[in-house]
Amino acid sequence: MPAVNITLQPRPAADASVDHAIQAIVAGASTAETCNTDLASGPWDFDIRPGYGPGSSMGDVIPTGSPRQGELPREYRDASEEELDARIVAAKATLGERVVVLGHFYQREEVVVHADYVGDSFQLANAAKAHPEAEAIVFCGVHFMAETADLLSRPEQAVILPNLAAGCSMADMADIDQVEECWEQLAEVYGDMDAVDADGLVPVIPVTYMNSSAAIKGFVGRHGGIVCTSSNARTVLEWAFERGRRVLFFPDQHLGRNTAKAMGVPLEQMPMWNPRKPLGGSSAADLADARVILWHGFCSVHRRFSVEQIEKARIDHPGVRVIVHPECPMDVVDAADESGSTDYIRKAIEAATEPTTFAIGTEVNLVQRLAAQHPQHEIFCLDPVVCPCSTMYRIHPGYLAWVLEGLVAGEVLNRITVPADVAEPARLALERMLAAKPPAAPASGWENAS
Ligand code: SF4
Repeated sequence: MPAVNITLQPRPAADASVDHAIQAIVAGASTAETCNTDLASGPWDFDIRPGYGPGSSMGDVIPTGSPRQGELPREYRDASEEELDARIVAAKATLGERVVVLGHFYQREEVVVHADYVGDSFQLANAAKAHPEAEAIVFCGVHFMAETADLLSRPEQAVILPNLAAGCSMADMADIDQVEECWEQLAEVYGDMDAVDADGLVPVIPVTYMNSSAAIKGFVGRHGGIVCTSSNARTVLEWAFERGRRVLFFPDQHLGRNTAKAMGVPLEQMPMWNPRKPLGGSSAADLADARVILWHGFCSVHRRFSVEQIEKARIDHPGVRVIVHPECPMDVVDAADESGSTDYIRKAIEAATEPTTFAIGTEVNLVQRLAAQHPQHEIFCLDPVVCPCSTMYRIHPGYLAWVLEGLVAGEVLNRITVPADVAEPARLALERMLAAKPPAAPASGWENAS
């Protein structure tokens, strides 16, 4: 694979596997706690059932019509961890540069070890873009990430999501029909949404987090809006306020609130939009005064973190450094020492020169991997209950082996394609983000030595 400007990282020395930890809990070999013992089963046990499956999103309502995964052939369900590992290695060796495997930071360790690149969703989309020679991009992440990779890759390249049931409960909370309806209701309050006032500002600029469907990114692109990541949300909001009187931010209320609050926007000027209520549950007067209208969405992984967990960490580990993701609720971000994206968290730990105790508020797979990679520090997840992202965990090595061996046999399985009429405005929204502040892509991820 050609050299790409990505930092090489040491492979974990200790067992970073969340799956092994869960298996030990279920077998009674560990006194730790998991949020659902079904996590020890293969995800194929849940593919045909309604809902997101065990894990942090198991209490969320999955939208009707969400993609489902067909039955995984028995040979992959019955194979041992070692056999799947060997089959994945063999298939990748056969395919060579014809395939690029991408692994999100939150993927299980058994999948990440096979990834050519590991990073956040945008770093990985850029890694896909950096390999125009690859026929296929296997995205070990969730649905919206595969869509973004499809937007940024060549039309001939097939982007593959190993398990179609790997959606994202947060992205699903902003449904395109609800967003269109919201826009119509806002037009009744603000009038012509394209009209500029005496200051040259339109009434509303829509801003969507990267963690949203391509349809939402397309909506934003069509209405003069922009995409943001957790790394550049402030820069993007500044861009939006240069063009609009206010911002409609979706789907994550917490990232929107935490970012706008840090910019000095008062909480009373950040009404929530609940799509099940007229005018989102706010009054016309509140909407007239609004600076940021927050969509009623959240990440079920980051919603699990609490101020009580931080207080306990400070008592149990005097001097602990608490870093949380900005998808956490505002009181948690306020109680932490720092907040930042997955990349921020990773770099903060790497930059610590003295042995340090870190309590981290983000998905447990990344935290356990960081702990294994940095044995000189004590690193633990703020949430004492082992509860991975339900949908990220749907990507099991069995599915990865299945799609890779499919490619070897000349079959493209689980291809994700964004329709052209959605792709064009969605790319526009992404390009606006790049122009607002070009990221140092994809240098912040890491390239596996394997
Ligand atoms: S961690 Fe949260 S935002 Fe990320 S895929 Fe899981 S539910 Fe979605």
